[in-house]
Amino acid sequence: MSFGSISKEAHETLAIAMNRIGGRSNTGEGGEDPARFKKDSNGDSRNSAIKQVASGRFGVTSNYLVNATELQIKIAQGAKPGEGGQLPGHKVDNFIAKTRYSTPGVGLISPPPHHDIYSIEDLAQLIFDLKNANPHAEVSVKLVAEVGVGTIAAGVAKGFADRILISGDSGGTGASPLSSIRHAGVPWELGLAETQQTLVRNGLRGRVRVQTDGQLKTGRDIIVAACLGAEEYGFSTAPLIAMGCIMMRKCHLNTCPVGIATQDPVLRAQFQGTPEQVINYLFYVAEEVREYLSAMGFRSLDEIIGRADLLKQRKVDHWKGKNVDLSSILQMPPVAVGTPIRCVEKQADRIADQLDWELIKVCNPAIERAERVQFESPIANKNRTAGTLLSYFVTAKHGEDGLPEDTIDLQFNGSAGQSFGAFITKGITMRIRGDANDYVGKGLSGGKIIVAPTADSKFIPEKNILIGNVALYGATAGEAYFRGIAGERFAVRNSGAKTVVEGVGDHGCEYMTGGVVVVLGKTGRNFAAGMSGGLAFVYDIDGDFKDNCNHEMVDLVPIVDYKDIATISNLVNRHVLYTGSTVAENIVNDFSTALSHFKKVFPKDYRRVLEAKRVAQRQWELVNG
Ligand code: SF4
Repeated sequence: MSFGSISKEAHETLAIAMNRIGGRSNTGEGGEDPARFKKDSNGDSRNSAIKQVASGRFGVTSNYLVNATELQIKIAQGAKPGEGGQLPGHKVDNFIAKTRYSTPGVGLISPPPHHDIYSIEDLAQLIFDLKNANPHAEVSVKLVAEVGVGTIAAGVAKGFADRILISGDSGGTGASPLSSIRHAGVPWELGLAETQQTLVRNGLRGRVRVQTDGQLKTGRDIIVAACLGAEEYGFSTAPLIAMGCIMMRKCHLNTCPVGIATQDPVLRAQFQGTPEQVINYLFYVAEEVREYLSAMGFRSLDEIIGRADLLKQRKVDHWKGKNVDLSSILQMPPVAVGTPIRCVEKQADRIADQLDWELIKVCNPAIERAERVQFESPIANKNRTAGTLLSYFVTAKHGEDGLPEDTIDLQFNGSAGQSFGAFITKGITMRIRGDANDYVGKGLSGGKIIVAPTADSKFIPEKNILIGNVALYGATAGEAYFRGIAGERFAVRNSGAKTVVEGVGDHGCEYMTGGVVVVLGKTGRNFAAGMSGGLAFVYDIDGDFKDNCNHEMVDLVPIVDYKDIATISNLVNRHVLYTGSTVAENIVNDFSTALSHFKKVFPKDYRRVLEAKRVAQRQWELVNG
């Protein structure tokens, strides 16, 4: 069951209902309050089994991932494929800002693409990252029904996802633009049939489960979906109606009169739904499925999965329908007898030979008793996602708070593979003498990462690329220091990490909503596009940064605020301490001159909210003395 922007009360009711009957509810893309991860005193659980990982990566922390049964990568949404989303500032209240790691009142943008997925190999890497972030959770990929989805689904299955969701054009319509609802996407039946046939023809169907959603409502819908190849079925509108939705279609306006699709506390108080209402509805659906199965002569749903030959096209006389030909949807792929047409095995275990298993053994005193551990190890670019599995065990034991700073201190020598330090939690410090590939510190969740060249390296660090693309994408907390230049899309969607780097490629700090980025060198073009929160400080010695900055949502201001001066000083000093950077050392040695070259990148929305807070505080002080 999947819900994006509904109220806390409605969301929790649905989660309780699904957990009571062994179903799975979905967080949607906005993160989840950690308070829900613990069971209630009556035994109910408000924890959503499916934790979504969408392009915005809102609230995607190590703790969030650890508390999932299934991790769902949302590539697109059925009603608006290819589009991103936007949560206007007035909808971002304290609660939403907390779960999304942002500032109340500041608008949030969900970019259309995942910035770490530009190819099917990148998607396979994210699947691998998530399997490391929680080895007990299955990973699913949400695709949208469209022409060619079968080919993408084949790539997803080869990328070792456990489940593939085919989402139809009629789902998730509540907050979608009308033009998209009417004109984008295709029905789930078309995408599902294409996916099933492609997977069966390529011998991939047996190792992946297929799900579908997009206005499923009745037992008959489930029977049709099963015959077309789906093993699992997603509902959203119908359970909302069971809980009281009266289809006012105001979901995008924050004025839902029954307290479902709104964040307004007055309207939320109107919510009357109960878990029992949802459970009753689903029991009726199950009963109808049983009736259909018995009429068809089958004992279980498994027996009809992928049996499109059981469906027949109904003849209609209407001029609109009489020429419709469904034969290509209803055909069974011509494959050898015994070729699986439904999931019969698990995907291969891809994390059995991770470097992390050794780290976990060495770090056992830290994981079990919070004792300090230091360890040194060679690393090579075959070692992908180093540290993430270790972080899983720390978070599973110590929760969101992790361990005290530097409890686990790991020194690596060499060239790290992709996703070094992805999602690492508080208390883990990972250093490299050498360099690193793409996605360093993806989803950083409180850990610390330090990358610097070896002492005997022949190149000038501040003039050379040290780490690959998409470092710190979706980071929520922690620190990172890079003695050298980072590739493209540095710190995109950062919402809390603090970092120092000596230059970045194009699109740095895009869609950032929090945290602090200090750049001690050149930036590529389109810096700060869509940035609505957090701060960036750029050391603009040549005075040309303004040409590379995207000014649509940010102002460039000189450094005058004493808090900004303290922040820069603190981070640059730490950069010297951790990396031995000569650029940073020169700045520290003549700090007052250097300060005049720094530009503060100040998001306009964030500035407006800070100013409003300052005025309110001043007025309160005047009134209260
Ligand atoms: S009652 Fe209206 S606004 Fe509320 S969830 Fe239903 S359709 Fe959306």
